[in-house]
Amino acid sequence: MLKWSRKQRAWLAAMGAVCLLVPAWAQAPAPQYISTAPAALPSLGEGSDMTLTAERKIGDRIARELYRDPDYIDDPVLDEYIQSLWKPLVAGAKARGELNAELQERFAWQIVLGRDRSVNAFALPGGYMGLHLGLISVVTSRDELASVMAHELSHVTQRHIARSISEQARMTPLMIGTMILGILAASKSPQSAQALIMGGQAAAIRSQLSFSRDMEREADRVGYSVMTEAGFDPQGFVSMFAKLQQASALNDNGSFPYLRSHPMSTERMADMQARQQLLTPRAASDKADLEHVIMTARARILSQPGIDLLRSWTREANDAQLGSQPLAKQVHVLYGAALAQWSLREPQLATRFLMRLTPLVQGDAKASRLVQLLSAELAFKSDNLQGALRALSEIPTGTNPRRPELLAQVQALTRMGASSALDTGISQLRSWVQQHPEDGQAWQVLAGGLMAQGRALQSLRAEGESQLARMDYSGAMDRFKAAQDASRQLPLQGADLIEASIVDARLRSVQSLWREQLLER
Ligand SMILES: [Zn+2]
Repeated sequence: MLKWSRKQRAWLAAMGAVCLLVPAWAQAPAPQYISTAPAALPSLGEGSDMTLTAERKIGDRIARELYRDPDYIDDPVLDEYIQSLWKPLVAGAKARGELNAELQERFAWQIVLGRDRSVNAFALPGGYMGLHLGLISVVTSRDELASVMAHELSHVTQRHIARSISEQARMTPLMIGTMILGILAASKSPQSAQALIMGGQAAAIRSQLSFSRDMEREADRVGYSVMTEAGFDPQGFVSMFAKLQQASALNDNGSFPYLRSHPMSTERMADMQARQQLLTPRAASDKADLEHVIMTARARILSQPGIDLLRSWTREANDAQLGSQPLAKQVHVLYGAALAQWSLREPQLATRFLMRLTPLVQGDAKASRLVQLLSAELAFKSDNLQGALRALSEIPTGTNPRRPELLAQVQALTRMGASSALDTGISQLRSWVQQHPEDGQAWQVLAGGLMAQGRALQSLRAEGESQLARMDYSGAMDRFKAAQDASRQLPLQGADLIEASIVDARLRSVQSLWREQLLER
């Protein structure tokens, strides 16, 4: 749930006045589609007025709010999986000439994961994409998930957002960003009082900012070819379509908000049927995608589905018939049950499910690794730090541990206090953030490790970098200033001397970002 400050509410109120400027069709109650009056929108093929910089600024503003939202989730395991789909899609778009070098350089290409249980994904300005855990938990294959992501990616590469909002020339980027946040808040929890207050406005705004039918068809067409280029099975596009069509026939708009922004129009369906006829079916792989079924189970449990579902998941895992089910089903149920048991504060039962799960995934390196990671996670949560480190050490790694392992390891070592092992972890994490300075969570974990090693100045700076990665400029300034104060009180030498001068430079650059942000208002 997005929290609205008084200032933001004032903006929303101001926005009401702006809504009066839009044509009457846009103010119809909760229009599902802007099929009636697209004349006011720029047509396809027309250049867009909004610059890449302006669109990115709006996206940054929205992302900054979403990162602060308690429903934003930074789960290293799910994040790694989503990235493994996203990166080939972005590369595929580039290979097909849908994504030019300038756009790739200027936009963020970041995915914001929301804990929400509803089935939704949405392209945001500036190359951000929102993805709900609810969507991950209902897709039956990675290809289905990739098809939705490719469709949304194509809205970005085809500059559909800029084309839709460049009409709103009277609005400042701040107002556009606030409007989009309003739509997101209202679509997230339709029952909330806040959504009721904003509902009418959000509907009107949604109609201004939603994509035209032609844009949807273009995103289908481009998305389909991008996912195929990236090596995904196009059958996933077809089966995802069928899934949405089915939900649409059931009028399941509550749990499928994706259908509100992506109605199954007859044109879209006809296009899809034409594509389907061209498909030569791939030889069905007899190997179950255990990695994917683990991810769907994880997404479902992390979306906090409520105590009844957690218990029913456990019952399913205890059902004597489970053993006769397909392997993928067994792995899905046992992984989910182990995680569910932890949420139900039953660590011993969680361990029991883990022990049943382990032999099932042997022979599948990706799935075994995920089960080991879960084992480390559950041990860590039960304060069994040695157990967590042992589980991590059993995962075969190359010279550089992967992100989930690295974060888990440094967190466990940090809790145990200063050590030479922690020192090693810190230097590995340092090289990670050097390559991924946008990784706010890694900076945060690094800050904790540095503090445990007694390096206060470096820890404060890492905290500042973490805030900066989430684009919280005032938070970053606060931490960098604290680092400056600390450096004045310490007799500086060696590494700290260098760190102090880095902090000065970082503070100056954040201050100028912050001033720039104030001027935009
Ligand atoms: Zn779309």
